[in-house]
Amino acid sequence: MQDIRNVFCVGRNYRLHAQELGNAVPTSPFLFSKPTHSLVEAKGQAIKLPGNRGEVHHEVEIVVHIAKDYQPGLTADDLIDKMALGIDFTLRDIQSELKAKGYPWLLAKGFPNSAVHTAFRPFPGVAALQQTDFQLLKNGEQVQIGNIRDVIFDLDTIIRFSVEHFGLSAGDVLYTGTPAGVSAVADGDHLSMVWGDEVWGEFTVSLSS
Ligand code: ZN
Repeated sequence: MQDIRNVFCVGRNYRLHAQELGNAVPTSPFLFSKPTHSLVEAKGQAIKLPGNRGEVHHEVEIVVHIAKDYQPGLTADDLIDKMALGIDFTLRDIQSELKAKGYPWLLAKGFPNSAVHTAFRPFPGVAALQQTDFQLLKNGEQVQIGNIRDVIFDLDTIIRFSVEHFGLSAGDVLYTGTPAGVSAVADGDHLSMVWGDEVWGEFTVSLSS
């Protein structure tokens, strides 16, 4: 895997998740980004997350990797070569404070290890993606399940939005939004990202102050 360049994330892209946080369902895509320092591959290790800044919520998401620079007319199927599952970790209490002040979300979303991902695999195409559910297991129990067919904004819409407002080129990745079921993690929790019935990546949460 060559180095990842930009990390873009879609907020509020599943209706039930927007509602569980008390947010209006958006009428246009809502994107933010994370520093590349946030990236870490889950390989069964302990991954350190902040333990002294309020609740740390898991958000399991499909992650796609852009293979080539955007040109008008190219679709998600043309541009994406690989996919992974990931977790967009969020300092939820901090995010609530930032939202109330109208401040950017970087402090809540951009800390080191906040963008966990599995190893990347070949992208099967948008149509095939919709045939398989993804899940997050916490200590063996399902806490989130989703399917990309339920998104509010599909991959082509997200890609066009990113191109228009931020640019999009080879090496960028997109975290495509989380389904309902987000909740706080605790020190020692074991998290598994599952595609269909197959565990693609797992790790243990290490909360440190
Ligand atoms: Zn997210």
